[in-house]
Amino acid sequence: MTKSVTILVTPADTADEATIKRVLAEECGVTTKRITGYTIQKRSIDARSRQARIIIQAQVFIDEPVTAAPTFDPQLQNVSNAPHVVIIGAGPAGLFAALRLITLGYKPVILERGKDVRSRRRDLAAMNKEGIVNPESNYCFGEGGAGTYSDGKLYTRSTKRGNVQRILQLFHHFGAEDNILYDAHPHIGTNKLPQIITAMRQQIIDCGGEVLFETRLTDILLNGDTITGVKTASGDTIQCTSVILATGHAARDIFTLLHNKGITVECKPFALGVRIEHPQLIIDRSQYHCITRDPYLPPASYSLVAQENGRGVFSFCMCPGGIIAPAATAPGEIVVNGWSPSKRNNPYANSGTVVAVDERDFAAYKFTGPLAAMHYQQMVEQKAYEIGGGKLVAPAQRMADFVDSKTSSTMPDCSYLPGIHSAAIKDVLPGEVNAALKKAVIDFGKKMKGYFTNEAILVATESRTSSPVRVPRDKDTLQHIQIKGLYPCAEGAGYAGGIVSAAIDGERCAEAAVANFAIR
Ligand SMILES: Cc1cc2nc3c(=O)[nH]c(=O)nc-3n(C[C@H](O)[C@H](O)[C@H](O)COP(=O)(O)OP(=O)(O)OC[C@H]3O[C@@H](n4cnc5c(N)ncnc54)[C@H](O)[C@@H]3O)c2cc1C
Repeated sequence: MTKSVTILVTPADTADEATIKRVLAEECGVTTKRITGYTIQKRSIDARSRQARIIIQAQVFIDEPVTAAPTFDPQLQNVSNAPHVVIIGAGPAGLFAALRLITLGYKPVILERGKDVRSRRRDLAAMNKEGIVNPESNYCFGEGGAGTYSDGKLYTRSTKRGNVQRILQLFHHFGAEDNILYDAHPHIGTNKLPQIITAMRQQIIDCGGEVLFETRLTDILLNGDTITGVKTASGDTIQCTSVILATGHAARDIFTLLHNKGITVECKPFALGVRIEHPQLIIDRSQYHCITRDPYLPPASYSLVAQENGRGVFSFCMCPGGIIAPAATAPGEIVVNGWSPSKRNNPYANSGTVVAVDERDFAAYKFTGPLAAMHYQQMVEQKAYEIGGGKLVAPAQRMADFVDSKTSSTMPDCSYLPGIHSAAIKDVLPGEVNAALKKAVIDFGKKMKGYFTNEAILVATESRTSSPVRVPRDKDTLQHIQIKGLYPCAEGAGYAGGIVSAAIDGERCAEAAVANFAIR
């Protein structure tokens, strides 16, 4: 017989197989001897009380052999001679679109402006050590897109739009650990993502798909309102009738290209602010109500929201035990983001802390039209560069100093490798954003003990929270509202935010492109 039960154990219990079995047996009302094994279905942390507990939902096998769950089969096939669909961008959306096309019997041809994962590493080192940005190869551009050197948090709220479990199973199939299948907040870690992305690419090639690196899309070829092909920076033309445009939210050249060609794009509100970094110990103490963290508990995280001056302010992409990363995609601008290794074992905790901005803000700087938000975003990133300490050295200010409008006389240690420079954040951020952020950090300090402290530092700017442009598409066919055969996809088109939702949207666009082939 099998039973599905939920147990509550201490963090240390999770490392002791015998204790887990004993608690499961008690919950099932049988002796431990009768339990032949169990599989974890869900695992989460309840840290509301003084002593944090781990909640485990498990399927328990009693008096019968353990049966392994059926192995996930992505049903990939040889598509070398199948009709092709061109995908622009090898981020999560592009890669999952490619895998879905293969499952459905179509050949993906991926064009990626950046380099493969391994070659990309050298360009990231140049950013961190010398402050040099390669506009074709950086934390956002290259194999795996912004997903490769991302944090790899796989939590998403967009369960309605697609099959989250299949996305997690695919990550698992390509090398992610078992726990992503049952943890409430699954996390892969930056150190593990590159191998997984490489395995996906190899599989796509093995099935007969094509992945062309250092191949930047520069034009979309049309016959009237219908796609006929794409042109690349080297002047090559690839003929095709379906293009999945999965270029992410940092591809400003793509937004400009579409706009200049008269292909409708729309201005989109987004959120702007800073990364805030605390010593991890402060966050652990606050969230786990302790002096030092129980070694069996993971570094703690937080999620904070407030409404200030009529604007939403929220923490975003929290990275416990993490690093602040330089995420600019062009020289002369500073953009920060965050990641953590799988063990989350750095002594810092960072999160984006951002304020919602919309057309009113863009118009205040005389930015209007479909690209207004993008120009406003770029303006703030360039301001951060001017005010920073040169190269990618970012403007930074201690938290209490920021609130008191005082220049920080010293800087704490900070994980941001290109370095930080003491500056007034108010000189970087637009006035309304600065005012709302000031109120929010005070309010967050009231909600979370220890949060408001001069040991925390604000690093500017966190500006690539979501796309500043929407590329509108028909909600049923997923084709651009004007252009047949063009599928605006995932984060860059304004239809996803994060790895899993981008992957889901990639799958949906692949399915839509295949459905359209069938109609034709
Ligand atoms: C440091 C960092 C940490 C992050 N952490 C997380 C996290 O923990 N969890 C999470 O869910 N999300 C995280 N994100 C966000 C996440 O990575 C993105 O939401 C996701 O990658 C978006 O997927 P995408 O495929 O839509 O676009 P992208 O990943 O941006 O991929 C777009 C691809 O298109 C390519 N491209 C652009 N223009 C062209 C062109 N003209 N021709 C050819 N190719 C082109 C780019 O080079 C890029 O590879 C993080 C991002 C960063 C930068």
